[in-house]
Amino acid sequence: MTLWTWTVLLFAVTATATGLYLSWRQKRAVRMHRTQVPPAFADSIKLAAHQKAADYTAARLKLEDISQLTGLLVLLAWTLGGGLNLLDGVCDLAGLSGLWGGVAFMLLFFLISQLLDLPVDIYRTFAIEARFGFNKITPGLYLADMLKQTLLMLLIGTPLLWVMLALMQGAGDQWWLYAWLVWGSFMLLMIWAYPTLIAPLFNRFEPLPDGEMKTRIESLLTRCGFHSSGLYVMDGSRRSSHGNAYFTGLGKAKRIVFFDTLVKQLKAEETEAVLAHELGHFHHGHVKRQIAMMLVLSLLGFALLGWLSQQTWFYTGLGVNQPSNHAALTLFLLVMPAFTFVLTPLMNRFSRRNEFEADAYAVANSDGGALISSLVKMYEDNASTLTPDAIYSAWHDSHPPAPIRIDHIEQCMRQ
Ligand SMILES: [Zn+2]
Repeated sequence: MTLWTWTVLLFAVTATATGLYLSWRQKRAVRMHRTQVPPAFADSIKLAAHQKAADYTAARLKLEDISQLTGLLVLLAWTLGGGLNLLDGVCDLAGLSGLWGGVAFMLLFFLISQLLDLPVDIYRTFAIEARFGFNKITPGLYLADMLKQTLLMLLIGTPLLWVMLALMQGAGDQWWLYAWLVWGSFMLLMIWAYPTLIAPLFNRFEPLPDGEMKTRIESLLTRCGFHSSGLYVMDGSRRSSHGNAYFTGLGKAKRIVFFDTLVKQLKAEETEAVLAHELGHFHHGHVKRQIAMMLVLSLLGFALLGWLSQQTWFYTGLGVNQPSNHAALTLFLLVMPAFTFVLTPLMNRFSRRNEFEADAYAVANSDGGALISSLVKMYEDNASTLTPDAIYSAWHDSHPPAPIRIDHIEQCMRQ
């Protein structure tokens, strides 16, 4: 047990304990407010729906607690428990060595990690989501999704891992800089390709149908300078009755996507308001800013990995007997979350600020009242809690809590 071992243990245990504490706070806040709909929502949301949201929130959090605890155990098993040594041994036995041996090691690591996450995901989908009436996915589609995702991971991951490990092996002391360039270009390519090449493998995307909604929306798009070819309805109802809308992609490939469930639930003016919110993200360049932040953070990450991979203690302190490039990459991926968890509230603060900006834009360009009523419908249909704990929310929520968000929209409307 070295100083490095203790440091990682301290951070990993602190991260898990913080997560469990915040979850406990959230469960307590939801339970305390379960008997009464908050006054601001008393006219729009029934007590039964409010209680369903409370129970759904608590059920999801309980499962999340289990997943956090097992995550800590899995981290310890891979490192101090000798899991990575064992995997190295298996690759050796199979005669895999050198660059391809490293690629095989990492692919096996990802596959095993995916398998370990599977029970929690199955329980979430087929027990919790089903109990609250949200799950629409059949076991067959679930299996097909999983096979497709694994195949994609192998197809995309294999060449990427090969290039990374080849750079670590042969590009000299500055390998991390080249690796970052490859990684950054790869991420940009994926962001660009995702909406047009990858998402259609899992869902059908159709242009918004003609009608009152489309006419309203087209005039909004023209006002805001956005091309209407980027507007799609996705068959989200194949998997879940949760509704959503999102903004994705870069350049000509950028799209605004509505879930079919949402389009069914909202009136034309509400859909227009939600769209105006998404256009607000586009207008303020939120996607570009987020990508820039991701690139800067990953540069820091690669520089750190460049240094750590040269230190023997980095490996031995975490139970890895044989230092190697693939072990360095894997250890880094395993251990990083214990240190970066403190960034979560900062990133979410940034994201909530973006949501306020997009809401203000929506009020200026569409109907603020319709935005509020669409949000209330979405909170109710998704069983999102209206009474989160303030600290939990500050840490975990990428969107402002319902009462604060609606207050802010009303403020914008008065201006
Ligand atoms: Zn938004």
